Amino acid sequence: MKYASIIEHGDKKGNGMVVRFRLPSGLEIFGLPTENFYSGDWDLGPTWNYAVMADTPFLVDTGRYGQSRQLLQTMDTAGVRPSDLEFVLISHSHEDHDGGLAELVGMTSLKVKAHAIYDLLIRQYPDMAPADYKRHFPAKCWHCFMPESFYAVHCLEYHRILQHLDVETVGSGINSLCTDIATSHLPGHSPDSLAVILGDEAIIVGDILLPQISPWPTRLEMYDEISGVVGPMFPDPKEILGLDRYLQSLKQLRRLGTTHPDMLVLPAHRFYYDGQWNMVDLTRRVDELLEHHVQRCADIVDIVSRGHGEAEEIVRRHFKPSLLKGPGKHMAINEILSHCELLVGLGDLVETGSHRYEASGTRLFESLIPSLEE
Ligand SMILES: [Zn+2]
Ligand SMILES: [Zn+2]
Repeated sequence: MKYASIIEHGDKKGNGMVVRFRLPSGLEIFGLPTENFYSGDWDLGPTWNYAVMADTPFLVDTGRYGQSRQLLQTMDTAGVRPSDLEFVLISHSHEDHDGGLAELVGMTSLKVKAHAIYDLLIRQYPDMAPADYKRHFPAKCWHCFMPESFYAVHCLEYHRILQHLDVETVGSGINSLCTDIATSHLPGHSPDSLAVILGDEAIIVGDILLPQISPWPTRLEMYDEISGVVGPMFPDPKEILGLDRYLQSLKQLRRLGTTHPDMLVLPAHRFYYDGQWNMVDLTRRVDELLEHHVQRCADIVDIVSRGHGEAEEIVRRHFKPSLLKGPGKHMAINEILSHCELLVGLGDLVETGSHRYEASGTRLFESLIPSLEE
């Protein structure tokens, strides 16, 4: 692969790999994937964390909870010492990206940077929690659908430590991190998603855009739960959540790809999978994802037009059964609700009850692609 030399080979999914990327300017970036524990049809492969050896060297993401020792070992193999790094930047608040953060900070005293929404969402607000058993969940997990038994085993300790972290916040829009390197706030997959633009040579995109996988979009509806927390700073839900915002973020990436077609895209999952590299062309990948979402809108409108307007019914008719096992079902419902929200916003669907829809007869979603150059 262009720019890359493999320091350590891993398995077919990329677990255990250590990779050095050297860009034409001489900038070095280390790809440091850490293992994930999902499987089946929703398997993401490992989380790709990156060490960027700029004039102010930093790490992007820390993998899942329990992976920080592994990450430190991987860094060691790459020849990167924690003391070489100035800070760790979190791409977004999902646990496969910041799960190892508190542990890593405990072992290394690294400073933490993340979007301002991240800083708000990792804290606990017992009086604002949507349910009593969620009083000790941080706000970022209030929408989580996993049962309390899962949370108690897998997350409680991690959140307890995480909420005490000091975070240096990064603002919305474009913000300089160091010479020629800037963050861009591109929400939609998560309200706090950041991409890191490395001059005109490369971009670390987190989960905003992935090869092979369509990142799941948030829903505007999620704002109700966190409005007390983020409302004072972010009063408009459409600015941070929902499929419409996600598509706008993709279009922002597309514009970048048009100006810099040779940019190396460093995604957080599936960069290497099934024994091969998945190189991402920004413009082409954004077009594929837009096409995917428009196609999904078309399917939903067709299903609803045939009289199946209940969200769960749409899910059963749209997804193949293997995708609906276990947590997959919740992911699938989220996908459908997120698209229905967009379609209601456009006027193609009318919500006639809670998560129940009727088709209006229009197909305005088809205009989502021609508006690319807006
Ligand atoms: Zn994510
Ligand atoms: Zn992820």
